[in-house]
Amino acid sequence: MSQYNVVFVLGGPGAGKGTQCENIVRDYGFVHLSAGDLLREERQRPSSEFGEEIEGHIKNGTIVPVQITCSLLRRAMEESGEKKFLIDGFPRNKDNLDGWNNAMKGVADVRMVLFFNCSEQVCVDRCLNRGKTSGRSDDNLESLKKRIHTYNSSTMPIIDHYRTLSLVQEMNGEKSPDEVYGDVKGALDGLNL
Ligand code: UDP
Ligand code: MG
Repeated sequence: MSQYNVVFVLGGPGAGKGTQCENIVRDYGFVHLSAGDLLREERQRPSSEFGEEIEGHIKNGTIVPVQITCSLLRRAMEESGEKKFLIDGFPRNKDNLDGWNNAMKGVADVRMVLFFNCSEQVCVDRCLNRGKTSGRSDDNLESLKKRIHTYNSSTMPIIDHYRTLSLVQEMNGEKSPDEVYGDVKGALDGLNL
C-alpha cells in the first residue's frame, strides 16, 4: 500500500474536468490538484526559473517537461498532509507518464482515470466562451487548435494505455454538468477510498 491514492482526470480542453473536480471535492474529500493551475502559479512566481518556459508551452498548447510538473504535484501532495488526490489534466503524454511512474512508484497508486469524452466542436465552443472572462492566454482559437492537436496526438494514447489497465471510467462530457456528475458519482462510488 502506497502512501497516496490518486484519481487522474483527463479529457480535452473544456471537457469539464475542473467543474466536475469541484463537485467531487465537495462530496468525496479528495484534494484537487490541477496540473495546469500549478503551472500557472509557478509561472507567476517572480523568482521562478521556469516562468518563460511554462508560458511558452501554455500558449503553444505543448507540454511542459515532466520534471517541472511532477515536482509541483509532488510538493503539493506532501504539503497538503492528505492522502487522496484528484489530479486534473495530467499525465498528458508519454514523457509525463514515464516521469510520473519513475517518481511515484511505491509512493502513489493510480486507482482510477476519469475520462470526460467531449467532441472537438463542443470543447472549442466552451473554451472560447470561457476565454471571454478567464483571462487565460490559451483560451483563443489559435492556441486551442494546438491544444486539441496535442490532446489527440499525445494524450489519447495515455488514456488508451490506462484502458489496457482497466482503470478508465469514461463519461460523456457533453451532457449537462449535473448529468455528468451523476455518472461520476456512479464511478466513484465503486471505488473504496
Ligand atoms: N500543461 C502541461 N502539463 C500538464 C498540465 C498542463 O504542460 O501536466 C500545460 C499545457 O500547455 C496545457 C496548459 O498547461 O495546454 C493548460 O492546461 P489546463 O489543464 O489548465 O487546461 P484545460 O485542459 O483544463 O483546459
Ligand atoms: Mg482545467
